[in-house]
Amino acid sequence: MAKQYAVIGMGRFGTSVASELYEMGYEVLGIDTNEDKIQDAVDFVTHAVTADSTDDNALKALGIRNFDVVVVAIGADIQASILTTLILKELGVKKIVVKAQNELHGKVLTKIGADKVVYPERDMGIRVAHNLISPNILDY
Ligand code: ATP
Repeated sequence: MAKQYAVIGMGRFGTSVASELYEMGYEVLGIDTNEDKIQDAVDFVTHAVTADSTDDNALKALGIRNFDVVVVAIGADIQASILTTLILKELGVKKIVVKAQNELHGKVLTKIGADKVVYPERDMGIRVAHNLISPNILDY
């Protein structure tokens, strides 16, 4: 069976991850507290749900532990990002990928059990720099 993904936070990063997975043919659940974001997400995810990921009962009700990978794409609200990661871990989610705001945030996420921590702005900056030096290398 094809892998199932959930993306929490439909900001620029979460939207990009979710829509790309959906384009590749995977089932994607999009979650956000903001109803407008969820209205927009309907076009590029399989299911879009308005919910607060810091509410463990809401995540349980969505059957979040049955997803193969959950991406936490909450940015500015570091507390919500940490609480969400902790809840996902406690609910037994197999693979948790989390966007970090900074190194310290990333360290906390790793300590509480995030399987992968990503720093989109930093990583993209590094890629752009490398691409400027050797534009012929296809790094995708
Ligand atoms: P980006 O750079 O990816 O646009 P950002 O770093 O500016 O994002 P935010 O806009 O703060 O991040 O958060 C991304 C999304 O996460 C927002 O749409 C926000 O509504 C959503 N979000 C924040 N807290 C929660 C939560 N507790 N549960 C679900 N969604 C949340």
